[in-house]
Amino acid sequence: MASYTHDCPYCAAKNSTFTVAGEHKHLAKAHAWSVLLICGSCGNGAVAEVSDNGNRTPPLKHPHDLTLRDQHGGVFTVLGLYPRVQLPSIPEHLPDTVAKAFREG
Ligand SMILES: [Zn+2]
Repeated sequence: MASYTHDCPYCAAKNSTFTVAGEHKHLAKAHAWSVLLICGSCGNGAVAEVSDNGNRTPPLKHPHDLTLRDQHGGVFTVLGLYPRVQLPSIPEHLPDTVAKAFREG
């Protein structure tokens, strides 16, 4: 099953596994696809723009994480993920231990 590992822009899960649930081949950009990803932690959807790097396997048929090579050497490059992951805003003048907790989530 095709998947992609990334921080979730909704639930802030670190290295969440997204399932590839849909795909659309870009009509004007060679090798470009829009891919619907579903977060395994919260179930929200995100869209990634990926390049198939010239291999002919659609993202839905990729057997692993999109960034890992399949049995034919095909691999996808993720060009962008939308919405973008929002980093928490850290209030000023916090003790270092509290500020570190904000950064780590
Ligand atoms: Zn999530």
